[in-house]
Amino acid sequence: MNFYELTHKKLEEFLQENELERFRADQLFRWVYGRRETDFAKMTNMSKVARAKLAEILRFELPKTVKHLKSADGTEKFLFEVGGGDTVESVLIPADDRLTLCVSSEVGCNMGCKFCFTGKQKMKRRLTTAEIVGQYLAASSSVAARDRRITNIVFMGMGEPLDNPDAVFSSIEVLRAPLGCNLSKKKITVSTSGIVPLIPRVTESGARLAVSLNGVNDEVRTQVMPINKRWPLKVLLESCREHCRQTGDRVTFEYVLLKGVTDSLESARALYRLTRDVPCKINIIPFNEHPGSGFTRPDESQVVKFQNELIRLGAHVLRRKTMGRDIYAACGQLRTVHNRAEVLNS
Ligand code: SF4
Repeated sequence: MNFYELTHKKLEEFLQENELERFRADQLFRWVYGRRETDFAKMTNMSKVARAKLAEILRFELPKTVKHLKSADGTEKFLFEVGGGDTVESVLIPADDRLTLCVSSEVGCNMGCKFCFTGKQKMKRRLTTAEIVGQYLAASSSVAARDRRITNIVFMGMGEPLDNPDAVFSSIEVLRAPLGCNLSKKKITVSTSGIVPLIPRVTESGARLAVSLNGVNDEVRTQVMPINKRWPLKVLLESCREHCRQTGDRVTFEYVLLKGVTDSLESARALYRLTRDVPCKINIIPFNEHPGSGFTRPDESQVVKFQNELIRLGAHVLRRKTMGRDIYAACGQLRTVHNRAEVLNS
């Protein structure tokens, strides 16, 4: 069994099934996540017999880091090989006193959002818990060597996290476990394109919820995000309200500004009306262009007008700073390609 597939609770069960004491789970979590030690010989607070048995039943397998790129603006991109030759990416984004890791949950994605580069690569497979946790472990070791630590995790990389709920919520359990990575649940955000029936699982997990909105009515949203046909705005927003009622949190709505499609002042006003009764903040994201998307980025003056209109109306709106464009690490740009030549040839 790969150790990194197991939450603390599942590890306890697994140990018991193998005639080992449940408290060994605490010891193992402390060694592996706390001290990053995977050599059983060095786990000297356990008996030799227990260590020998553990070595028989547990192995430690993580995705391999095959590339690590740094952008001029401080953003970093990691490329991981996750087996079978498949690769996924994580992006590390510094901002003020935060260091946020954006992790992937699938190889490719089936949601087909029209503005998204990842969406052009059909989903090949869902990542395992170990492959998700492994992205965090590799990135956190890299920053620890520079005396920094990851403060936030967002499931906004490749893939729709709620299309891979078991591995995503198990990995959240590991990331949050006090003896594991010990991240606060409020520092973990799950971003969905709107798989409504699974939003209650985000609520239960204690993670924050972000929803990719990108359209102020069903016609525009369906054009940009085909998932809207299945779960249109009305049901999506009601499930967001329910999440807020149960958690007392706010939802983050992500809204990509596409020139001539979603960026008019009329859209800004409609966006305000649509979201004003949901406790939320709105992140506006000027589109990051990529070859073959068919969309263009609005002029800077239009982005400012759009944001100002929302502010004037009283919305809590932030503009997401575009980072990592030079290494194709910006929002919607991930597709395991690492330089413009590769992108243009893909
Ligand atoms: S925006 Fe997210 S859900 Fe939509 S295609 Fe891209 S990766 Fe998939």
